[in-house]
This record gives sequence, structure tokens and C-alpha cells, in this order.
Amino acid sequence: MSESILAAVMTAPRQPIELREFPRPDLPAGAVLLKTSLSEVCGTDVHLWHGRLAGVPYPIIPGHVSAGVVDAARGPVTGLDGSPIREGDRVVFFDVHRTCGRCRACTVHRTPTRCAARRVYGITDSANEGLFGGWARAIYLEPGVGIARLPDAVALDDYIGGGCGLLTAVHIAERAEIRLGDTVVVQGVGAVGLSAIALARIAGASRIIAIGAPQSRLALAGEMGADLLLELGATTPEARRQAVLDATHGEGADVVIEAAGAAAAISEGLDLARAGGRYVIAGHYTDVGDSNINAHQQINRKHLEIRGCWGSEARHFLRALSILERHPSIPFRKIGARRYALHELNDALADAEAMRIPKALVDPWQ
Ligand SMILES: [Zn+2]
Ligand SMILES: [Zn+2]
Repeated sequence: MSESILAAVMTAPRQPIELREFPRPDLPAGAVLLKTSLSEVCGTDVHLWHGRLAGVPYPIIPGHVSAGVVDAARGPVTGLDGSPIREGDRVVFFDVHRTCGRCRACTVHRTPTRCAARRVYGITDSANEGLFGGWARAIYLEPGVGIARLPDAVALDDYIGGGCGLLTAVHIAERAEIRLGDTVVVQGVGAVGLSAIALARIAGASRIIAIGAPQSRLALAGEMGADLLLELGATTPEARRQAVLDATHGEGADVVIEAAGAAAAISEGLDLARAGGRYVIAGHYTDVGDSNINAHQQINRKHLEIRGCWGSEARHFLRALSILERHPSIPFRKIGARRYALHELNDALADAEAMRIPKALVDPWQ
């Protein structure tokens, strides 16, 4: 790789993406320079572009989940599984870094995704600090970043197609505690919802009901494992509730997963869960406003359990790799609909914003 490295920079919200050259970084001991193979444009990148996330240190190089080949390693560097990472290895890395392991969130509450020191590649790392994002021909992996070899059996397109949505979905499945034979409703068929459907199937759900739009994504939800598809625009909330009751002996779903990111989805989701069921809310990654609920009718009297789900941890990253290795038939690659070059990322954001694609792939060498 040359001494200057091309990257696509989001300078500020609503500004066009700019191409910039960055100097090849000097590597301290334990650091790695990754030659990027593929990265992604997901819904979070659209939120970043809209300026809807707090504390983002623009300018940034977006692209949090990425894969590449080790161009240089100032060794010894070991992966999360303890094995050595060497030049030429095909690797992926956990985008969350600098989780401190010492604060109250990390130690007392055991909620490291709420650690204040935590940073995320492509989201909370500034481009002023260097190549901390996947929309670039190389990514600087600072010492301590969780690196793993991509298993030979896992196709690059499946890894990035699943990407951040799959990591989030692994965490969701854990929070949802899906049991064998459960009926699971997934609200939303974006990258997170689609992965959550596939994982609910693996986790033993007997029936999976997907609610979402547009029709093309809903069709993909069927390919990911959903049994019943309810299109948002073509059905009323009452009709959807009736469909869920009809499928569950009139009880409602054992588990409802919110991956829609719409305020109106919350009240509906509460109504779709059975009494004593569980509702996991994971789609409200940005503040989309208040949801109107009746605590007596929808929560207290129903004896309902509601759980939030924020971010992911290294164990979700490693479990995602195991799932991809074990289940090559799940078409994660179809979530990543199209490849874009670095100079096409304004188009990629526009396509993701208009929901023409669930996720765009970034090929910085195209
Ligand atoms: Zn901490
Ligand atoms: Zn993402």
C-alpha cells in the first residue's frame, strides 16, 4: 500500500462526503494496519449524516463494521482467541474499543455498552486522529482492538451483509431469551430486524412473524426465516394484532422484538406480546420522540417484561462469527444489496436514506 491512503470523510451533518488522503500511520507496538476489503453503509451512517447522534466528533471516516487483510502488524499481536495475528491474515475486528473495564458501568453493573469511555470505529472516533473508519483503503487498529481471523468458511459478503445488524441481533436474541417453540414477532425489516429473524429461527422459535416495509425487504424477511409477513402499509395495526392472535391461540407472541425505530411501533409491540411475555426494544437508536402507552392495559396488567438493548459486546461479535460459520445457508449477503466505490458514497447514503437498500457495501478499491 502507498504512503498516502484514500478515505471518504463525513465532514459534518448534511454535507457531501469528501475524499481525502491520509498519511500512512506509524504503528506503535500492538497496532495493526488493515487493508480494507469491504465496509458498509448502514442505517447508523444515515443517522450520522443527518446529525441525529449526540457526541459525534466530525469530521469522521464512517464505516464501523469492516473486514480486511493485515497489511502490517507491529507484533506480537494476538487475536481475541489468543492466536497470533500476522501480515496477510484475513481478519475482522470488533468496532467497539477503549471500554475501560474499571468504571461502575463496566464492573458494578456489568453493562459495558454503557461505559462512558467506550468508543466506536466510524462513529465516535474523529478523522483528525487518523484512519478510524472503514470508508477508507486502510484502517488503523490501535493496540487493544479486538481482532479475529475471519473463518475460511465465511464469505466476506455474508460477514459484511450481516455486519453491525447481526452483532446487534445476537445481543437482542440474548436479551430476548427465546425458548424452543416460541412465537416471535419482529417489528422492522432493516438490517437489524432481518438478522434478528434469522437468529430467532436458530434459537428455536417455531413461528416468526415479520412486520415491515417495503415489500422487497419483507420478501427478504421470508428468506431469512419469517413464516408470516405483514406489510406495514397494506395492513392496519388492528389487522396485524388479529393476525398475531390468530397464530397464537389468541394469546399474543411470547417475544416481540422492536427493530423498527418508529415511535408508533412501541404501543403496537406491547399489544402484540402475550400476557407474561417479553418485549425487547432495540430499534430506538436515535430519539424519535415519545410513544403513547397505557401502563395499566399494556404493561402492568399484562405482567409484561420490557428490556432495552444497547450496542454489543465482544462476545456478540465472536458469536456472530460462529453463527456465520455454522449457517452458510442463511442469506446474510442479500442484506448488503450493492457495492459502492468511495466516490459513490453520497449515492449510497441517498439510497439507504430512501430505503431502496437495507445496506450498502463499500469497496474502497472499486
Ligand atoms: Zn467502563
Ligand atoms: Zn451499522
